[in-house]
Amino acid sequence: MEIVKNYIDGAWRESQAQEWLDVPNPATGEVLGQVPLSPAGEVDHAAQAAAAAFQEWRRTPAVERVQHLFKLKDLLERHFEELARTITLENGKTLEESRGEVRRAIENVEVACGIPILMQGVVSEDIARGIDELMIRQPVGVGAALCPFNFPAMIPFWSMPYALACGNTFIVKPSERVPLTMVRIFELMEQVDFPRGVVNLVHGSRLTAEAILDHPGIQAISFVGSTPVAKAVYTRAAASGKRAQVQGGAKNPIIVLPDADLESTTRIVADSAFGSAGQRCLAASLAVTVGEARDGFVEAIAEAAAQRVVGDGLVEGVQMGPVISSASRARIERLIGEGEAEGARVMVDGRGVKVPGYEGGFFLRPTVMVDVPAQGATFKTEIFGPVLGLLHVATIEDAIELVNSGQYGNMACLFTSSGAAARKFRYEAEVGNIGINIGVAAPMAFFPFSGWRESFFGVLHGQGRDAVEFYTQEKVVVERWPKEWSRKF
Ligand code: NAD
Repeated sequence: MEIVKNYIDGAWRESQAQEWLDVPNPATGEVLGQVPLSPAGEVDHAAQAAAAAFQEWRRTPAVERVQHLFKLKDLLERHFEELARTITLENGKTLEESRGEVRRAIENVEVACGIPILMQGVVSEDIARGIDELMIRQPVGVGAALCPFNFPAMIPFWSMPYALACGNTFIVKPSERVPLTMVRIFELMEQVDFPRGVVNLVHGSRLTAEAILDHPGIQAISFVGSTPVAKAVYTRAAASGKRAQVQGGAKNPIIVLPDADLESTTRIVADSAFGSAGQRCLAASLAVTVGEARDGFVEAIAEAAAQRVVGDGLVEGVQMGPVISSASRARIERLIGEGEAEGARVMVDGRGVKVPGYEGGFFLRPTVMVDVPAQGATFKTEIFGPVLGLLHVATIEDAIELVNSGQYGNMACLFTSSGAAARKFRYEAEVGNIGINIGVAAPMAFFPFSGWRESFFGVLHGQGRDAVEFYTQEKVVVERWPKEWSRKF
């Protein structure tokens, strides 16, 4: 069993934490390691080390800074399988899903390697006669990522490579439920020879995160997690004068029009709803059929759910792993029951499942609920499990109204063969990520990972140019150099 260590000021350090948590393999229940809930003093150590390292790191030319990221990319490629396996072991998703996640992390490193161009400023000559004006992008200082459990490798990479490339120093606090992947990645970071203090890893849960949010030596926060926590984080970061990009939860609707191709729509919606056991912020959690689309789709999606192969994500052929914890499984089962109580019908019931040989695992099977009441608890609550709720409306206008009535705005998708319907949907849906005949509309690393309404608090998102803007501050210089004031000209 691994005793999880912090990485602070260029060295692995055993935490002096009073409290530690077990890290189970969700497929078996076997304890893989113990993670410390690091006290504020250890956050302070990391913040001081990062602040000290900042002065030299920001002076290191961008072309040199990215050499470290090129090396990191190479190491991530060489350790690709091992990283994917670690994700599956501690998170439960299938090996194929873990590989996809590591690929997304690497893509963000690749984009951040373009920083010599991405962080260029602008110059206007002669804003008045003989006077020039410049806008320069300079790093912000010390940044920190507070991360959720569902993408242990990818999500820190929405911010970290950009922050480092721009000349900031950084602290990562992984989710206390999946700390091992970042430990493996920091073992690789160590080989990349970042100067001491440039990158730091501090484990913990709420109190450790709060120590980061309150620390006066940290200037920028990249948070991803649930909406109630996101709101608290955004307020707390602002109270101590930090800039913050704060991604929250989701409840993503998928609209199916009568002209959609039934076979491919069913397959894509099932992959979206039940992939990663529904624990993706871009998982389809509601499917809204319009008009005649209901005929055929309901049976087809129920069949796809019932046929999904559930088991240990390390086993070939398994399509869906366990959920993250027994508490999470109990919560999901409770929410299914509440849906029944408010009038929904459980057409495919994934509760009470046992996978032979994995009796200690936290398994559910895909669940499909039909006739979910609009605006009821099942419609509104982020279940974050393999549960798809079905609703039916008469027109695309009704469907868009449903999409726009939700609390969240992370993703909405439309399945159709009509260009006009697709354009209307893209134009009118009030969400940040749109899929047209796509079930998981995940932005590539060179696009912002958007999110509207209560799925995001802040202005600049993670990834790409947004991340570069977030991790730099603009300095505007107006200058004049009259000939007569300059020596030896
Ligand atoms: P969570 O909100 O429970 O935890 C996220 C992080 O916040 C963890 O590091 C945790 O230790 C920390 N934390 C917990 N309470 C805190 C507090 N009061 N103050 C400060 N920090 C605190 O989220 P989770 O269960 O790990 O992840 C699942 C959630 O993340 C889902 O709601 C999902 O939709 C969301 N998510 C959103 C996106 C997105 O892009 N919008 C992406 C992935 C996950």
